[in-house]
Amino acid sequence: MKYTWFRAAKWLAIYFFLALIPIIIALSATLPLYRSFAIEAGVAMGFMGLGILGLQFLFTGRFKQIAPSYGMDNLLQYHREMGIIAFLFILTHPVILLITEPDFLSYFNPAENLPRAAALVVVSIAMIMLLASSLWRLKFGLSYEKWRLVHGILSLAVIFIGVVHSIQVAHYLNSLWQQILLAFIFAFYAYLVIHTRLVRPWLSKRKPWEVTAVIPERDECWTLELKPINHKGLQFACGQFVWITLGPTPFSLQQHPFSVASVCGESTIKLTAKASGDFTSTWKDIQPGTRAYLEGPFGSFTPVKEKHLFMVMGGIGITPAMSMLRTMAKEADQREAVLIYANPDWEGVTFREELDEIARKINLKLVNVLENPPENWKGETGMINPDLLSRHLPANTGDFAYYICGPKPMQDAAELAIRDLGIDWRRVYSERFEII
Ligand SMILES: Cc1cc2nc3c(=O)[nH]c(=O)nc-3n(C[C@H](O)[C@H](O)[C@H](O)COP(=O)(O)OP(=O)(O)OC[C@H]3O[C@@H](n4cnc5c(N)ncnc54)[C@H](O)[C@@H]3O)c2cc1C
Repeated sequence: MKYTWFRAAKWLAIYFFLALIPIIIALSATLPLYRSFAIEAGVAMGFMGLGILGLQFLFTGRFKQIAPSYGMDNLLQYHREMGIIAFLFILTHPVILLITEPDFLSYFNPAENLPRAAALVVVSIAMIMLLASSLWRLKFGLSYEKWRLVHGILSLAVIFIGVVHSIQVAHYLNSLWQQILLAFIFAFYAYLVIHTRLVRPWLSKRKPWEVTAVIPERDECWTLELKPINHKGLQFACGQFVWITLGPTPFSLQQHPFSVASVCGESTIKLTAKASGDFTSTWKDIQPGTRAYLEGPFGSFTPVKEKHLFMVMGGIGITPAMSMLRTMAKEADQREAVLIYANPDWEGVTFREELDEIARKINLKLVNVLENPPENWKGETGMINPDLLSRHLPANTGDFAYYICGPKPMQDAAELAIRDLGIDWRRVYSERFEII
């Protein structure tokens, strides 16, 4: 407990320090003449917004030093919330300045300074587009891939103009070293995007994979079997995921995350997708021999060694559990496992036969939960709720770690149910497939 709080406090302190860097730089040389509290606060808002925006690149960069500890979905959620906060800081900056000192309106006057006025108009539009396209992507009919491209370009534009604006105004950044330092730090942040989008795909070009089989599964799901070409493959832990690009080049907008469903330690990787969109619907037509590029592994949805497993999975959310259970079966793992597996109907229970087989090999209690059960169904029905879970909860709850993965409504219900049953949240691991 102490350690968890300490770790959280440490990361928050680091985060705030990094977000404050533009303000620290601004206050590190001879201070300009004090104007009024409102004006100086308005300027601080701008610097703060810029500091937070720069840090945004750290969270989406899939850096292995950060992502494994916190989970990609948590990081992206944090990225999303901090994006809104940065927007508010940046919006407050001109609003406060204009209310306190209407003369600042001249900054938007093209007759006075055309590049400055143009930059401020562009950055304002870019900020609004950035936020609106992220909050309402589906309403705008933007595919994930196009949104990701637009998001990257707009973010780089906002950062670039923001830094140029603070250097140009030069009220606080009046020394050359301050200007160079700020530009250098933000160039580093911008490089993180370039690294993720260009350098990393280029590196993965040296480690291609090949699709060796495409296997149909229940419920419109397809499994791709992939083998490394002339390299050792991936060292992943059960429950982790990879980003896959299919086709001759890793430089593609179509890069998607999938949980590895295969046995840990084997060089063949199995990914199973439910055909639900433009990318996953193509899996059934993929030909063996197709090239693929994998980036990863990522994720902290991995079994705790000394604990038994209590899993609540729904639909295609079963994939990380398959990796855990297949590995347990292969290693004749003696630990107890409970799998509550929710699905709309019996015919659509992906991996149904294989799960029965695994349950015969290891200490697995398999509980299928069906929304629309067939006639004479004797098992569980309906939705996941505390009552249902409590019927299968082991007596020794403290000896278990809890894993939840499934569609959003099931995931939310299961997380609340587990909490209501008094399970310590530090032993609950949750993986969300819908990250944006
Ligand atoms: C950690 C993780 C593990 C996953 N594991 C599996 C799995 O094992 N099996 C499975 O079927 N699905 C899995 N998914 C979900 C899978 O990545 C999306 O369903 C898939 O990318 C949808 O692509 P599409 O073009 O077919 O569908 P679309 O209709 O284009 O997208 C459907 C939704 O999927 C998400 N999505 C789409 N493209 C991407 C992308 N490039 N990156 C991130 N999210 C995207 C968006 O939320 C989007 O709204 C996982 C997701 C995450 C985050």
